[in-house]
Amino acid sequence: MSAAAPRFAPEMMARLDELGRISENPENLTRTTFSPEHKQANSLVLDWMHQAGMVAHEDAAGNVVGLYAGSDPARPRLMLGSHLDTVRNAGKYDGMLGVVAAIACVAELHKQQKRLPFGIEVIGFSNEEGTRFGVAMTGSRAVAGTFTAELFEAKYRNGVSYREALAGFGLDETRIPAIARKAGEIAAFMELHIEQGPVLERNGLALGVVTAISGARRYRVDMKGLAGHAGTVPMGGRQDALLAAAEVALFIEKRCTGTPTLVGTVGQMEAFPGAVNVIPGAARFSIDIRAAEDAVRDVAADAVLAEIPLIAARRNVQATITALYDSKATPCDAALMDQVEAAILAQGVPTMRLPSGAGHDAMTVAPLCPVGMIFMRCTKGISHNPLEAVLPEDVELATRALYHFIEHFPGT
Ligand SMILES: [Zn+2]
Repeated sequence: MSAAAPRFAPEMMARLDELGRISENPENLTRTTFSPEHKQANSLVLDWMHQAGMVAHEDAAGNVVGLYAGSDPARPRLMLGSHLDTVRNAGKYDGMLGVVAAIACVAELHKQQKRLPFGIEVIGFSNEEGTRFGVAMTGSRAVAGTFTAELFEAKYRNGVSYREALAGFGLDETRIPAIARKAGEIAAFMELHIEQGPVLERNGLALGVVTAISGARRYRVDMKGLAGHAGTVPMGGRQDALLAAAEVALFIEKRCTGTPTLVGTVGQMEAFPGAVNVIPGAARFSIDIRAAEDAVRDVAADAVLAEIPLIAARRNVQATITALYDSKATPCDAALMDQVEAAILAQGVPTMRLPSGAGHDAMTVAPLCPVGMIFMRCTKGISHNPLEAVLPEDVELATRALYHFIEHFPGT
C-alpha cells in the first residue's frame, strides 16, 4: 500500500460520524425512512454534494441525487451510491460508506477541475432496509422503474403506511414514476458497501470484488403433533412437534454445510402451547436458504422440502410448508468485476472475489443496467449492530479504488 498521506479517509470518517449522530433514538443509531432524521440526513448529504460540485436534489421517493455532469451529455451516466437509512440500533457504516465515498470521489474530480466524458450520478437511497414499512429498497426500485403501486399500502405493525409517511415528508407520490431512469441512460451502477460478514477479514484482505448477490428461498413450516402431560406420557409414542422441527433444523445445517456460498438458517422457532410441563403439540419455524447460484440454492432447498415430510412421518406429526419468498441471485457484471479488481490491485493490495449473502440496492438496480459491488472489510464481520466498525486505512483504500475505477471507467 502506498505510504502517501491519506487523501480521503479523515474527512470521510468525520462525515460518517456526523451522519451516525442523526438518530431518532438518543441511545443508538436508528434512522428510518421519512422520519425527521431522514430529512436531516438528506439535507446534510445534499450540502456535501453541492460542495463537491454536483447539482443535487431530493427526489420523489426520498432519495438524494447528485449529478456531476460529463463533457458529453449524450453519454450514459455512471451511477454510484448506497443507502442512508438504517435498521434499529444500527452501525454507522452500513450504506452510508458507499454514499460518502462516492461524494468524496466526485469532490476529488471537482478539486482537480476534471470532467469525465460521462456524467456521474451519486445516490443516497431511501428505505433500503425496510425498517419502518416492512418493504425494502423502495428508493432504488423507484429509480430502477420497478416501484409498484401496492408498495404505497405497506405498513409495519401499527405504523403509518408508506403513502401517508411519504406525504408527511412533503413528497408527491404521483411524481414517483417520473424518477425511473430510462433504458440506456445509465451505463452502470457501482456500490461500495461493508461486507457484513467475516470472509475478507479471515483472508487478511481489505477489499473484495462481489460476484453476485445471493438469491433466497424462505418458508414457514408448521408441525402438528399431540400435546400431552410431560410427566405421564412415556418417551416412546410421543408426537412431539418441537422435536420434529428441531430435527429439520439439524438436517438443514447438515445439508447446507460444505457447499461454497450455500447457507441455511432456522431463525425463528416456537413451541405451542409453550409450557414447561406440556409436550409441544405444535411448532412453527422459519427456513431461509441462500446461495450465489440459483441451481445450488434450489437443489438444497428441494432436498430440505423433501426431507420434512419424511421426518414428520417418522415422528407421527403433520407438516405444512408455506412458501414465503423466492428471489433469484443477481450476478454482478463480468466486465465491472474485472474493472473493480484492476482498481483494487492498482492500490498495491491483493483481493478476492466473493458473493454477497445479504441483499443490496445493487440487486434492485440490476434490471436497469449492469451492476457491480466492492466489499470492504468490517471488524469481525459485525453489522446491524452498534459494534459495527471499520479501519480508516481500509476506508482510504476503498475510496482510492473507487476513484481509480471511476477514472478508468470505459463507459459505453
Ligand atoms: Zn446496507
